Amino acid sequence: MNLDEKYFYIPDAADNIAFITEQLFRQQTKEWQTAANNYEGLKSVRVRDLNINGIHFSIQYNPERIRSSAAKVDEKSISERKCFLCPDNLPPEQKAIPAFDDFLILVNPFPIFSKHLTIPKTAHTNQLIAANAGSMLDFAAMLTDYVIFYNGPKCGASAPDHLHFQAGNKGFLPVEKEFAEMKSRLKIYKHKSVEVSFADNYLRRMITLQSNSRNDLLETFAKIYNTLAQQQPHETEPMLNILCYADENAWTIHIFPRIKHRPAQFFAENNAQLLISPASVDFGGVFITPRIEDFEKLKAEDIIDIFNQITIGKEDFEDIEYRMEN
Ligand SMILES: [Zn+2]
Repeated sequence: MNLDEKYFYIPDAADNIAFITEQLFRQQTKEWQTAANNYEGLKSVRVRDLNINGIHFSIQYNPERIRSSAAKVDEKSISERKCFLCPDNLPPEQKAIPAFDDFLILVNPFPIFSKHLTIPKTAHTNQLIAANAGSMLDFAAMLTDYVIFYNGPKCGASAPDHLHFQAGNKGFLPVEKEFAEMKSRLKIYKHKSVEVSFADNYLRRMITLQSNSRNDLLETFAKIYNTLAQQQPHETEPMLNILCYADENAWTIHIFPRIKHRPAQFFAENNAQLLISPASVDFGGVFITPRIEDFEKLKAEDIIDIFNQITIGKEDFEDIEYRMEN
């Protein structure tokens, strides 16, 4: 297809892409019926809060997210469906902004955030972070009102065959504020200019990198990634979710290493089932429940249990910390 037809606007070097993204958001939520309906619906979505030992979670009842939570991501199902992130298959109403030569900025028509973007690579290429961490930092630096996030191919990405990030407006995920509050209590390691901290006592285990140096961050990220890869030699990439955001001073990257795609509750039957497929947003503190029964029954103990099943073990986590020290 002629990609030009998909473009909302083609920015040049002098353009402010964050500003153009806001224009795209306005246009899409006004003129694309699906997006307009779903963003309007999000305003009345049911939410409840849970405080687990001082750690805050929001539970969001969001039926439109059933596509993502229950997505079949096995190889056979993926090979038999049309890729919904390839430019050829985007709905006619969906418009794009080209960015960094090889990515597209799109409005996500099935939002969790009041502003929710999908940022696929233009070409159909596998969901892998190693060679694309630099792009993640670049998007965070460009879209400073947003948290950029990455779901690994077995960690919540509903298109494991097409590289993409997502972005959601800042101020929505509890982890942003909680990390700022807990940072002074965490042990900080220094790797070049990067401050690396390990949160072991946060229900899930989280490694955070902060620096103003893109190069140093990429180097530190690679060091952690390589340790994780050694721990999971049979995976194409170690299982993880990532949240990344920036202000004028520095980037923050939260890495959530994990060992499992979906918890046992996902596969349980009848009353025992919880249709929850945790990804970056859940690790950030907002649990998405596409079914009303799960929204109503999800308890603190379930969240503790789900994180226990899917998050990296204590020994492997300490191994990463040990290698950061040495
Ligand atoms: Zn594709």
